[in-house]
Amino acid sequence: MNHLNFSGGPGVLPETVLAQAQQAIALVPETGLSILGISHRSEWFAGVVAEAERNIRELLQLPDSHAVLFLQGGASLQFSMIPMLLLRGTAKTAEYLRTGYWSGKAIPEATLEGQVRVVWDGAASGFRRLPGAEELSCSADAAYFHYVSNETVEGLQFHEIPGNDAVPRVCDMSSDFLSRPFDPRRFDLIYAHAQKNLGPAGVTVVVIRRDLLEKAPAGLPALLDYRSHLNAHSIYNTPPVFAIYVVLLVTRWLLNEIGGLENMAALNRKKAALLYQAIDASAGFYQGWADHANRSLMNVVFKLGTPELEGAFLKQAGERGFSGLAGHRSLGGIRASIYNAMTLPAVEALAAFMEEFRRAPC
Ligand SMILES: *Cc1c(COP(=O)(O)O)cnc(C)c1O
Repeated sequence: MNHLNFSGGPGVLPETVLAQAQQAIALVPETGLSILGISHRSEWFAGVVAEAERNIRELLQLPDSHAVLFLQGGASLQFSMIPMLLLRGTAKTAEYLRTGYWSGKAIPEATLEGQVRVVWDGAASGFRRLPGAEELSCSADAAYFHYVSNETVEGLQFHEIPGNDAVPRVCDMSSDFLSRPFDPRRFDLIYAHAQKNLGPAGVTVVVIRRDLLEKAPAGLPALLDYRSHLNAHSIYNTPPVFAIYVVLLVTRWLLNEIGGLENMAALNRKKAALLYQAIDASAGFYQGWADHANRSLMNVVFKLGTPELEGAFLKQAGERGFSGLAGHRSLGGIRASIYNAMTLPAVEALAAFMEEFRRAPC
């Protein structure tokens, strides 16, 4: 059942968006063609890219100092493109926070391009918490500062923006982009692939301060050079037309049906509170992974007493139509991902199931 898809990614999408996407595969009325066969050089598609960008700008209140790009290669390619732009050929050091699985994947890619310093490493605390500002000694002349706003695997989310405003701030927002408002002027580069919160896999949204591009080193391959994509309005080579169209539909949904990021954040807080309440009221039957202060509103990660009990939980949940609840392969346990499109009634149903299972686990 689609609406009970608690998968960590690709994640659930709004029903109204799925219906429109289905219609577009059959026929886009303005063009008389299926979206799967529409030219990426058509006027119609240029309009799709332009409106998707406008909507993201409106949702974020993004100033013109920042460009919006639609790229391929997922978040993982950004792990490389960012140090290629900002670290290659400099004598400076890039500073990274290692707070979980995904930031841990970004760091080795940066070391291929230059000096990297891990400012804080969560391994010592088992990736159960995030650092407070007082624990971070960021330098004032780093090439850039990189962190992951929401560690999707461990369910850890920053509720304040870390780092030094004097240093370019780079953030992987793949699993919480457009889930809450924030001040985009405090960021120099934000990236978020679509498949957790924005649309299907295949497109990655990049928000980049235009003046960062002045630092680009010579000799970058065109496809790995943000300037190629900026100059070509994200149509440098054949882009994922369908994926970008679905991102457009999701931004329309956020603007018109949800009413903006404040409303989205309020709903997300309400959904997360239901599940954390079920954990906290369970007298240790469910054990939340993250420290309370760093709990994610997108990925609720918890364990049960034994692997057998977790197996029984997943089996019964599956029989009730819940899917995608198994924890990430690196961590085990249970992970309920409650991205933007996950509805309140679906989360209520999961919280009720958790309560029921706790009372009669087998
Ligand atoms: C899923 C995820 C990634 C990996 O993204 P790909 O598009 O598969 O490369 C990177 N960062 C975060 C925070 C993620 O949640």
